[in-house]
Amino acid sequence: MSGHKLGLNTICTHIGEIKDEQFKGAVSPIYLSSSYEFFDVDVKRYPRYFNTPNQEYLAKKIAALEHTEAAMIFGSGMAAISTMFLAFLRQGDHLVVQNTLYGGTVNFIKEEFPKYGIEFTFTNGYKVEDFDAAIQSNTKLIHIETPSNPLLTITDIMAVAELGKSKNILTSIDNTFASPVNQNPIDLGIDMVMHSATKYFGGHSDICAGAVASSNEHIERIWNVGKNLGGSLSDMTVWMLERSMKTLGLRVKAQTKNAMKMARWLDKHPKISRVYYPGLKSHPEYKLAKSQMKGFGAMLSFELIGDLDAEQFQKELKLIKSSMSLAGIESTLLSPHLTSHALLTQEERDKIGISDQLIRFSVGIENIKDLKHDISQAITALK
Ligand SMILES: *Cc1c(COP(=O)(O)O)cnc(C)c1O
Repeated sequence: MSGHKLGLNTICTHIGEIKDEQFKGAVSPIYLSSSYEFFDVDVKRYPRYFNTPNQEYLAKKIAALEHTEAAMIFGSGMAAISTMFLAFLRQGDHLVVQNTLYGGTVNFIKEEFPKYGIEFTFTNGYKVEDFDAAIQSNTKLIHIETPSNPLLTITDIMAVAELGKSKNILTSIDNTFASPVNQNPIDLGIDMVMHSATKYFGGHSDICAGAVASSNEHIERIWNVGKNLGGSLSDMTVWMLERSMKTLGLRVKAQTKNAMKMARWLDKHPKISRVYYPGLKSHPEYKLAKSQMKGFGAMLSFELIGDLDAEQFQKELKLIKSSMSLAGIESTLLSPHLTSHALLTQEERDKIGISDQLIRFSVGIENIKDLKHDISQAITALK
């Protein structure tokens, strides 16, 4: 295959397959052994060493999708991010993180870092100047999230990667929202990419998993900490994740296409006061998003006009589910002020622009006319 580059859907379907030599079945066999021979073997395998056959092979698919040498699969997105952070930060080190981050990551940093004596600074904003301003002499890692949750701000990935390189600081990104279908941060100079595989990788709202992709050198360092923290994923679920990932390209492309259509439609809707989607020309970082993303993703947020009850609106929906989490093939909505940002005070939410009218929309693969119809009938029912 020298010189020939495989396309996205071929990578999703075939890379990391385990050949069934014994029975010649078409799909990867599942190896559930938690005990492997230690005599005369190249690798001593054990589930918590992240090297059972199913883990080892699925990691190849993730590495291929993120354009890295290696990857590791974890029991959750938080297991992936916590292991990655603790592999590169020790007592006295400092982390610079974006102020708009997944809530679980914020909790992990605020609640656990003080116990390890690791320092951190949340930036004042999502621009490269904000990251630069937060750097200290002991900063070892800069971590970003773009598009961000729930307001879909866009951070300049290449600028942050260059900032890190110029100061000898590693950079990492949470690429969950975009997925490798829409964004490849490694190509823009970022050192490490992590995912909540619970989201687009799984894609059917039935798997909890995580992943990190990077160079062999960085993955070895993460592995050394990971074997101690023990956040590996069961092989049964690894196998289900492999099956899900075969359609990653198809699903995310269909969802992204739907999101663009829904964003345009909502943007013109008289009962919607504002839409947050990087694919709209009115988005402040539209040009940046266009330059660093292959597609604008399938997550968007919108605000209902002031006199409509945002909670009642969601209860009136017949098709779209009010449900936490995101990225399933089914469309889901949530109110950030009741879920991800419920622990903030009203004042804190006002400061970052999360109103009670704000609704986050994870766009699924349904027919667009049915999604529009559902939203229209729910708004009509409110009057
Ligand atoms: C869900 C999520 C996580 C955490 O992943 P889990 O699989 O729930 O542990 C991290 N980052 C983002 C952006 C997420 O959406």
